[in-house]
Formats: sequence, structure tokens, C-alpha cells
Amino acid sequence: MDIKENKPQPPKNSTLFFCGVVLVILLILNIFVMPALSQRSIQDATYDAFLSDLEAGKISEVNLDEDVIYYLEKTDGRAQVYKTGYISSDVDLVKRLDDADVVFNKEVPETMSPLVSILLSWILPFAVIWLLGGWLMKKLMKNMGNMGGGAGAMSFGKSNAKIYVKSSTGIKFSDVAGEDEAKELLTEIVDYLHNPEKYKEIGASMPKGALLVGPPGTGKTLLAKAVAGEANVPFFSISGSEFVEMFVGMGAAKVRDLFKQANEKAPCIVFIDEIDTIGKKRDGQAMGGNDEREQTLNQLLTEMDGFDGSKGVVILAATNRPDSLDPALLRPGRFDRRIPVELPDLKGREEILKVHARKIKIADNVNFYEIAKAASGASGAELANIVNEAALRAVRDRRKFATQADLEESIEVVIAGYQKKSRVLSEKEKLIVSYHEVGHALVAAMQTNSAPVHKITIIPRTNGALGYTMQVEDGEHFLMSKEELENKIATFTGGRAAEELIFHSVTTGASNDIEQATKLARGMISRFGMSDDFDMVAMESMSNQYLGGDSSLACSFETQTQIDKKVVELVRKQHQKAYKILEDNIGKLHELAKFLYENETITGEEFMRILNTKPRIAMNQEMSAKEEQ
Ligand code: ADP
Ligand code: MG
Ligand code: ZN
Repeated sequence: MDIKENKPQPPKNSTLFFCGVVLVILLILNIFVMPALSQRSIQDATYDAFLSDLEAGKISEVNLDEDVIYYLEKTDGRAQVYKTGYISSDVDLVKRLDDADVVFNKEVPETMSPLVSILLSWILPFAVIWLLGGWLMKKLMKNMGNMGGGAGAMSFGKSNAKIYVKSSTGIKFSDVAGEDEAKELLTEIVDYLHNPEKYKEIGASMPKGALLVGPPGTGKTLLAKAVAGEANVPFFSISGSEFVEMFVGMGAAKVRDLFKQANEKAPCIVFIDEIDTIGKKRDGQAMGGNDEREQTLNQLLTEMDGFDGSKGVVILAATNRPDSLDPALLRPGRFDRRIPVELPDLKGREEILKVHARKIKIADNVNFYEIAKAASGASGAELANIVNEAALRAVRDRRKFATQADLEESIEVVIAGYQKKSRVLSEKEKLIVSYHEVGHALVAAMQTNSAPVHKITIIPRTNGALGYTMQVEDGEHFLMSKEELENKIATFTGGRAAEELIFHSVTTGASNDIEQATKLARGMISRFGMSDDFDMVAMESMSNQYLGGDSSLACSFETQTQIDKKVVELVRKQHQKAYKILEDNIGKLHELAKFLYENETITGEEFMRILNTKPRIAMNQEMSAKEEQ
């Protein structure tokens, strides 16, 4: 707060200055422009000229005032009012007018329609002032930008949220290949927008927001557009960077405006792409520059809390940096549904290739499976690019359609071009990662009291992990027994153990496992009192639990050394246990790793199926054992 108060205040005299400018403009208009306007409308003429024109029949209307005559004359289609002195001795005037067949009355004839004259004399000056004022103000604000904005900025902040209606996106879920999980979650939202009654009847309300997270080029923006295309409701799309404005408060005003528009158009979808630009963690050390972003974020949070979810406004957002998002954004009631959009696996890649191949002319005998296999680790955007490159290649060679060879060639172009950016595993690496991940899963499955394996993939993640084993607990766990914790440590070491067992060497792939295992083991000893030596004495205390959790040691140096020893002992024991488990099940390890290597993903069911079918060798052994008996 102090920091904010120390900031230079927006200059108060800016409004005063603005008023001054308007006043000066008004004066100038009054002095020069208005008389000029009126002068142009009535011109002086001699009485002589009046008479001759009257005779010539040029005059159509005459007005007799006290001692002046106004008359309207039309020459080549243009009307002009003249003024001349009244010579009272001209008694024939009335007769002359009658002869000339002109209308005469007591009103000043008008050259312009009353509307036009009102426009000219009243609205035009104001319009000029308004435009000029706006322009000046903008210029002013620009100059003041560095000083931290000023009053009145809000009135200029209109959001440029584009409204997409169904015809303009035209993208359907069928245009998005793979990503079944994401599509399933989004389908529910579409369904809700179509028949909200179904949900209201039960009292269910949709999540207000859904956050699409995943690496670049995996189709997050595409999915959001597909939702709009399927839902047939207005689609507001804005990119996070569009909120970032030069002046404090402008971004917030845009957010406000966007939500106002959305509320009027409900049911509708608001899509905020690249939300990390505004949704970055607030670090509380804002020094000037961060203020704007923070205000925008605060406004977004307020708006999301403020609007009525049952009205049918669904907010989608996309990011490839979910870890940098402010935790407040992810709180229930805001973006509480998180939709992972991961890099496609083999099957997904094949489908994506097929979707994009529909758009080009391509030989019938193309084997997309082979292409997908060769492009392991490629994102949807890269695959789309591969297809396009193939088509370009065909054009270059003056062929009518692209062939398998074109696709193969373009993989190299695209993947090599992208190699730095994305991780494409070599075959050998892929094999190692397969064994590593199956190692985790197998150790987990072979122990009692550990969560069932949900999914294993060897598709590189954005967070740097090359593979991933997902275990989903049956229910919620708040208490963990010593045995469960030990099993967890064993599971963490399972990856490395598999590498040792199969390849007799180790890789850097286990760094995260090591970290996690150590954390658990240390916690068991120093915080949970799970070692015989220290009984129920806390050696460590946690502070700052909401901010990452720092632990501080509260014991002597000797004890610290002892703790370290105990931690190593504990982890080593579990590591050996894991190794033993894998050794005993090496047949399954090979079988599962082979499956994972080929398919890149194993679902929980597939895992259990392979695990529970008896391997042929083992069955043979059993048979021979029986025969011996
Ligand atoms: P992101 O927003 O995740 O960075 P985009 O949605 O902008 O990625 O994807 C870029 C392009 O890549 C899309 O326009 C599309 O052509 C292609 N693409 C990406 N993922 C897919 C997919 N799953 N299916 C089909 N095309 C995809
Ligand atoms: Mg995008
Ligand atoms: Zn691992």
C-alpha cells in the first residue's frame, strides 16, 4: 500500500487544462466561425439590384421587415438570401411584387431546412469540440503515461472483444482430432448452453470457467473456437495481451466492458486466450510497472465472482504456463475446471494428420500411421505444418497430389526446424523412458495400499518430464500410514530401478523422483515421527504453508547429521525393494514397456489387462512343474 501512495499522483490540473482548451475553442468559434457562417447566409445588396432581379423574375420570396427587405434569389440552383434597405417612398413595391408573382411575408426566408441550420449552428461546433477534445485528451494521456495515468482514462477504454457468431468460426469438434478428454469435458459445457433447463432442474450449475492448459500448438485456441461453433452462441474472444494497456485502469475498464457485453448477450462464451499475460502471480512487490496488470487481474477476479453463473456465461481461458498463474484465478468459482490439452499420442497424431490431409489432395495409399510414428513428440500445429509442407512439395514438383514420400520429407523439415523448441525423443530415449515409467507403475501395482495406475504416457510434458505415470487414489486420503508412505517412496524409486535392471546404467530422468522421495522420507523422520530413533519429536517445522512451504530445522547439528543418515537409509531400503519387485516381474516389465513404447500411452484398464494375463513362459513353467509332480 505504501508503495502505491508514494507513486506520483495523476496531475489534478489535467481536467482544468482540458476545460481551458474547450473554452478557448468556443471563443474562437464564436468570434470567427459563427459570423462567417451567418455572413455567408445573408448578403447585402442594393435596392437597385433588388428591383432589377425582381423584374428578371429571379426572386422567389420576399420578406418585408421594418426598414429592411430580405429576399431569396435562386441562381443556377443555388439559393441565396439578400438584404437591402427599404425605401418607404416606393409605394409601388407591393404592386411590383404582385406582378413578379413572388410570395411575400414577414418571415426571414430560409435557405436551409431548419434541421440543417440547427445542425450547423449547434451540433457541429459541439462535435468539433468533442472530437478535438478527445484527440487532445489522448495526446495528453500519452504524455502523462509514464507518470501513471490520470482521471478520465476509463471513458476511452472500450474493449475490442470481437464477437464471433457461429458462422464465422464454423469450427466443429470434428476438426479437432485426438484430445478426446478435453473434448468430453467441453461437450458438457456445450450441452449446458443448449439445454440449461436440464441442469437447472437438478440444481446443478456449470463451472463458471474452464482453463485449457497445455503446450503451445496443441489446439487450445482451436478447441475454444470449436466450442463456439458447436454451441451456436455468441463468442467473445480476446487475448490476454489486449488487456495490457499503457495506462493504469484501462485494462480493468476493458475487463469491465467485456463482461458487461457478455452479460447482455448471455448465453454466450467468453474466451480469454493466453491468460497468463494478465493472470501472472501477484508478487506483492509491484513497483509501478506491475500495477496495471495487477489491477486488470483484480478486476477479472471481481467480475468472475460478480456474475451469475446460471445466466449462461461460460468463461474459457487458455494458457501454456499454468504454473505461473495466480492461485486466486484457479480457486473454485473461477477457473475451477482445468482441461489438460496435452501433446497428442500416436493415435492422436495419426488422427490429426488425417484431419489436415482432408484439406489437401493426397494419394490414396498414404500410410498415416507410419508418419505419425516418425513424428513422435510433434504437436498438432507441427503436424498441420507437416501436411502443408507436403502439399507445397507436391506443387513444387508439379504433381497433382502429395505422396507418402512428401510427408516423410516434410517431417524432417518441420521437426528439424522445431527441434529446439519441442522435445522429440530419439528411439533409444523413448525406450528408456518406457521402462522408467513402467517401472514406477509396476512397483506401485505390486504393492498393497498404493493407488491404482490410471494412465502412463511417454509423451513429453511442458514441465520437462519425459514421461508420466498417473495414479488416482480411490477416495480422498487425509491420513497416510507409515507403510503407505514407504510404498510411495518405493514407487518413486521404481523408475530408476527399472533403468538399472534393464540398461545397467542410470540417466538424469529420475531427478524429480529423487526430489519427491527425499521430501517424503525427510518428512517421515523429522515431522511425522515415523522412525524409532527420534520417537515423537519434531525436528522440523513448517511455515508459510500457502506459499510453497518452507521448513526450518529445529535441532542440533549432530541430530541433523543423524537425520540425513536416516533419510538415506530409508530411501535405500525402498529402492532395493523396488528393484526386487521389478526383478521378480521382469517378464511383465518387458511386456508393458514394449506396449508403452509402441503406443505411447497405456490406460489403467490396458495396464491391468496386461498385468493380469499370465505370460506364456510362466504358464509353461507352471505346466512343467505340474508334470514333475
Ligand atoms: P494453441 O492455442 O494450443 O497454441 P492452436 O489452437 O492455435 O494451438 O493450434 C494451432 C493449429 O494447429 C490449429 O489451427 C490447427 O490447425 C492445428 N492443430 C493443433 N491441434 C490440433 C488438433 N488436435 N487437431 C487438429 N488440428 C490441430
Ligand atoms: Mg493459442
Ligand atoms: Zn520417474
